[in-house]
Amino acid sequence: MTIGIWVLGDQLSLDQAALNSVTRQPVILIESTQHVTERSYHRQKLVLVWSAMRHFAEELRQAEWDVEYAIASDFEPALQDWVKAKGITELRVMQPSDRPFAQVIQSLHLPCKITQVPNNQFLWTAAEFQAWAKGRKSLLMEYFYREGRQRFQVLMEGKQPVGGTWNFDKDNRKPPKGKLNPPPPLWFEPDAITQKVIDDVQSGGFSTYGQIEPFRWGVTRSQALQVLRHFVETRLPMFGPYQDAMLTGEETLWHAMLSPYLNLGLLHPLEVIQAIESAYHQQQLDLSSVEGFIRQVLGWREYMHGLYHYVDEDYPQRNHFNHHQPLPSFFWDATQADMNCLHQTLKQTEEMAYAHHIQRLMILSNFSLIAGLSPQAVENWFHAAFIDAYDWVMQTNVIGMGLFADGGILASKPYAASANYVNKMSDYCKGCRYKPTDRTGEQACPFNFFYWDFLDRHRSSLQSQGRMSFILKNLDKMPEAELTEIRQRARQWHQPDERI
Ligand SMILES: Cc1cc2nc3c(=O)[nH]c(=O)nc-3n(C[C@H](O)[C@H](O)[C@H](O)COP(=O)(O)OP(=O)(O)OC[C@H]3O[C@@H](n4cnc5c(N)ncnc54)[C@H](O)[C@@H]3O)c2cc1C
Ligand code: SF4
Repeated sequence: MTIGIWVLGDQLSLDQAALNSVTRQPVILIESTQHVTERSYHRQKLVLVWSAMRHFAEELRQAEWDVEYAIASDFEPALQDWVKAKGITELRVMQPSDRPFAQVIQSLHLPCKITQVPNNQFLWTAAEFQAWAKGRKSLLMEYFYREGRQRFQVLMEGKQPVGGTWNFDKDNRKPPKGKLNPPPPLWFEPDAITQKVIDDVQSGGFSTYGQIEPFRWGVTRSQALQVLRHFVETRLPMFGPYQDAMLTGEETLWHAMLSPYLNLGLLHPLEVIQAIESAYHQQQLDLSSVEGFIRQVLGWREYMHGLYHYVDEDYPQRNHFNHHQPLPSFFWDATQADMNCLHQTLKQTEEMAYAHHIQRLMILSNFSLIAGLSPQAVENWFHAAFIDAYDWVMQTNVIGMGLFADGGILASKPYAASANYVNKMSDYCKGCRYKPTDRTGEQACPFNFFYWDFLDRHRSSLQSQGRMSFILKNLDKMPEAELTEIRQRARQWHQPDERI
């Protein structure tokens, strides 16, 4: 009996469960050129994944594994050839994180047995999350996070949270006032392998979105570990206070930039959490930054993954608010965006395939929500735009958190905000042709008229969200003439030829 291991492109760890289950058996990695044309991807995302795969294949070879690296139009023929050539009787693969890929594996016709090994790249398995969620009235992240802190003994003193409280969010919302000097991110020069992938992606014409160069992301575990160390040493101390801030020309501020590496398997979430916790104990860092970051990885990331496997298959099609506006063309070409906050965020996304959490949530998703864009079109764009995008992480983040299209499985109210929020948490409004204070008139900011129009259009459904009642009272107080103009501006924005 010969066992062969198929390593998927986001399972690039020597400790992953399928590799762990054997010693030095044949291994295959496959770049499928057809697979990447089924959805859109940022050019840098393709370079990252393929370069990381090619580097990982080299690492396996150096560790004396028998490695086949196939570049093929599709997975099945490449697997068939390899299975026959190596006399493989059982193909082992670690369960994919993405549901659509599980279907790809199920539909394979191969002359051998196929075994899926449970995925060990997350702290909670899908089954463990289900056991946690079963029978609960509320699936709020906060409860899940607390359970995770206790289960993995992270920032705990016995049964109590270190510092006497679970959550330091209230200390972590500083606006970007005064002179801020965030440290530069740690970038890498492409080596020969990465340069070859850049050439392949360019000549293959697999994608049309995003700049391919400069490509500066790490592509190996060793580089990912350097980014983790760099984050702990230079960024973590200020991560908390400026977590929600946005500044022109400072694309990454004190953010970790670790999601691409975590999502590829180059880093394991537990080692990231442990590195942060041990820095806290050794360097006596501020607990609000440390807890704030651990909440993201132990809380949000695990929660999003668990929820993705928990919700029904129709989750991606949800459209709670019945929004159907098409995506404006500026999403694909930042030069067309005249709203400065959107222009800056979209421009940096084209340039580096990255925007930080608040840019994704409070600029891109918020606008899409209040402007009534189709959730599926928005989710498709997010999948195409970001370096760290995968089905498992997009669905719940975009459909659930960003757009409330799931009707509140994940969030207790929609993340909808007017220009007031953008003006407070960024410097974008200073360079904008619109006025963040105006909701009517020539210079009215679209975030304002869309926000009030959104509340107005969905008043009855929002009334049942207790946390919206205060803002709905303000809507009730608005003069009828003003509301009429707001409705008109919102409607006409989608038909540029008829704008007032
Ligand atoms: C609409 C929307 C779309 C998003 N799309 C993605 C995506 O495609 N891929 C992705 O990895 N994250 C996504 N996120 C979550 C989050 O924005 C990114 O993980 C984060 O911006 C990555 O940058 P960072 O590593 O510098 O983050 P930091 O804020 O510096 O670090 C926090 C870490 O915690 C994890 N994390 C925090 N929040 C989340 C979350 N909601 N879901 C999953 N992980 C989380 C990430 O691994 C991240 O590296 C999305 C969020 C929103 C609101
Ligand atoms: S004024 Fe409005 S559109 Fe302009 S940057 Fe501010 S929020 Fe964005």
